[in-house]
Amino acid sequence: MSRNLSQAIFNIALDVPLNRTFDYLSGGFVAYIGNRVVVPFAGRNLVGVVLEVKQTSDYPIEKLKPVSHVFEDVVFDNDTFKLLKFCADYYHYPLGQALISSLPLRLRQLKPAVSRKAFAYSLLPNADISQIPAKKVLLHRIIAALQATPVLASGDLAFVSSGWRKAILELKNLGIVDEQEVVAVKASLPTSSVEPQLNDEQNQAIESVLALTHQFKPWLLHGITGSGKTEVYIQILQKILSEKNAQALVLVPEINLTPQLEARFRSRLSQYPLVTLHSNLSESERLQSWLAASAGAAKIVIGTRLSVFTPMPHLKLIVMDEEHDSSYKQQDGMRYHARDVAIVRAKQLNIPIVLGSATPSLETWFNAINNHNAQKQQYGLLRLTQRAVENAALPNIFCIDTAKSPTENGLSPLLVKALRERLSRGEQSLLFINRRGYAPVLHCNACQWVAPCMRCSARMVVHLSQKRLKCHHCGHEQKIPLQCPSCGNADLHPTGQATQRLEQTLQSLFPEARIARVDRDSMRSKGALTDMLTKVHNQEIDILVGTQMLAKGHDFPHLTLVGVIDTDSALYSPDFRASERLFAQLMQVSGRAGRAEKAGEVLIQTAFPQHALFHALRSQDYVSFANELLQERQVMQFPPASYFALLRAEANDFSQVQQFLSKAGNLARELLTNHLKHEVMIYDPVRPQMERLKGMERGQLLLQANSRSALQRLLRVWMPQCRELPIAAKIRWSLDIDPLEF
Ligand code: ADP
Ligand code: ZN
Ligand code: ZN
Repeated sequence: MSRNLSQAIFNIALDVPLNRTFDYLSGGFVAYIGNRVVVPFAGRNLVGVVLEVKQTSDYPIEKLKPVSHVFEDVVFDNDTFKLLKFCADYYHYPLGQALISSLPLRLRQLKPAVSRKAFAYSLLPNADISQIPAKKVLLHRIIAALQATPVLASGDLAFVSSGWRKAILELKNLGIVDEQEVVAVKASLPTSSVEPQLNDEQNQAIESVLALTHQFKPWLLHGITGSGKTEVYIQILQKILSEKNAQALVLVPEINLTPQLEARFRSRLSQYPLVTLHSNLSESERLQSWLAASAGAAKIVIGTRLSVFTPMPHLKLIVMDEEHDSSYKQQDGMRYHARDVAIVRAKQLNIPIVLGSATPSLETWFNAINNHNAQKQQYGLLRLTQRAVENAALPNIFCIDTAKSPTENGLSPLLVKALRERLSRGEQSLLFINRRGYAPVLHCNACQWVAPCMRCSARMVVHLSQKRLKCHHCGHEQKIPLQCPSCGNADLHPTGQATQRLEQTLQSLFPEARIARVDRDSMRSKGALTDMLTKVHNQEIDILVGTQMLAKGHDFPHLTLVGVIDTDSALYSPDFRASERLFAQLMQVSGRAGRAEKAGEVLIQTAFPQHALFHALRSQDYVSFANELLQERQVMQFPPASYFALLRAEANDFSQVQQFLSKAGNLARELLTNHLKHEVMIYDPVRPQMERLKGMERGQLLLQANSRSALQRLLRVWMPQCRELPIAAKIRWSLDIDPLEF
């Protein structure tokens, strides 16, 4: 079919749910690998990215269409392409969709990407001006302007002449003018930019990492909250960035929850242009950050999970803070885990990666303590066991047995007493409850009816101030009914505790106290959290009530009491990761207490004070708790002792889900050769914990394997077969590799 053409052929990735790429004729355009193009596809125009420029096609040439436009921006370099190619293979997701969905929205649109980068220009010290012919008037005018004012910004030059861009390019090429990008520095929270005297453990961590740069080396920095991990990152960055052109990527779980972190990096590494990439940016800001990173102008990128794919031509180090955080896992589209992708990226680039946490994920912990696998690069384990600030002791953690000290409106007398003490001493307290709204259930005492969501297998949460019931899973809302829809009883009770109710209870107990609530409802507006944190710092708040939004990396020097309200449901959850998560969460929230000179106390209300999790927590013993959990996982053959893949399906009609999953399961069983049979296990289709979500009936099929490669070998043949199933086109389904939720 193929014949030589005068016209080149572009192989193009498109954001369409098909597991292939597409050939187009150049149409007289010149393009390079990584260029964005516009092509006609199924009657529409789509943005694509050129993967290959070639002379022949496997398709009949006369059927190929020409591209309609080529943008000048190049959006992928080879390294990023290689990374995304790996991910598309590993997560069994169409390459075109993987590539294009990694781009900022503006680059997925049919428009040229306008760089709003600002530059400053100056004359180079030994510029030879005599080489410019006198007739090039404009060049001489610009030089004169730069002689009068040594540094001029793009905006200033526009006043010299409208043709300044071309002239500047010529002067740059002649070696006369120097161009420097100006990166706007945003106002930030007050931080100290003093460099503390490092302790021995910190020094040792930094030296270990710096001794092995320019090679792939994963490090786990395991340090309790307040042990100075961030300080360690900063000093490693200082060293690595001092190399010419070097860039570093700092991954964080949710940047908008930790404005202090960004501020600290900005103030301590102020000589290096820094950009952030996260969902709180406007699309235009996101584009500018992305462009600055991919041009090499931004030396530090701080970003959330998607930024792991940002092209950075001179990337020399990856840091991932709070590596255990589940927000690193993408829960739709390509369900990648940013930690795993970051490790692959570091390996492909031959650079070190530092994973930091007070409570590492069991996956990472497993890697860090199992260093006898010769095939894998060995993880280095770095430990910080002391709080960094002198005299800042670890908080004392106690359980309040709610059987002996029963709660009233969610609070036990012991906790109320502790709050009163803090108020009288002018110290701050934090009450942690991981549920927003007023009460989790609306209940009828006469017939035991509870308000359900019609679209999900979940209960509606009472939001009393708005007199509404809301489903936190699908967003469905309705008015609070005046009487029970089941028996007509008019006496309906909000039951259980949530942030708003707790806030109300505290207000009536302590009318003189300044109480603030921090959850997704109260912190909706941009900047609300930063304002609240500033208030807490300025001691304008006495008691904080909040969800996990408060648990993340905030520094509250005057906070001496943390109360934990209701976590018992997680202790005996069917989810095998629940106790790992709860332990991490409670360690993190405990870490908020007593960070400065004042000792902290953590009081946990529970009906199970003897539970092993609380034993470990009281002695702040992550290591033995993690090792115990690992042993359990080994016995149960759960990750990280084995590897999971989950085929999820949903439809309005459950029988279709059932049909798809059982057909898919049969196909997989047929594929298992005698050899693979011992390595991959295929379970029967089941319903997930949340059987119905947003009106869709759900089901799933679990695959379990002893090795990643055995699982991947099966998936590679099986996935195309699943796609071919006629029922597959009628329902929604996806494959989740290394799933976190079941
Ligand atoms: P982590 O990231 O482990 O929670 P941080 O790096 O935020 O810890 O350190 C906690 C506090 O201790 C910060 O206020 C930090 O400035 C300070 N700090 C860090 N290292 C030292 C040190 N060696 N000496 C004194 N203070 C330190
Ligand atoms: Zn009733
Ligand atoms: Zn719902």
